[in-house]
Amino acid sequence: MPLYEYELCEGDCAICGGRFALRRPINAPEMKTCPLCKKPVRKVISTFNTPTKLKPLSITDAKKAGFTVLKRLGKGEYERQ
Ligand SMILES: [Zn+2]
Repeated sequence: MPLYEYELCEGDCAICGGRFALRRPINAPEMKTCPLCKKPVRKVISTFNTPTKLKPLSITDAKKAGFTVLKRLGKGEYERQ
């Protein structure tokens, strides 16, 4: 299940700290309120989803993220690294 990050639209919350992360099914309906304090929340675009904005994506990072890295051998052949 993907990990989603949420923050309160306004104000602060002693229960969730104003920002929290939850693992939810990918097809779950958009969460509109904090399950703890019931205040309105918005989804934060997690840095996990945009690693290229932080640093150049390396093969090691891609593998860590679960990508299968393919090395081109030529003539349409690829080797799993
Ligand atoms: Zn809360």
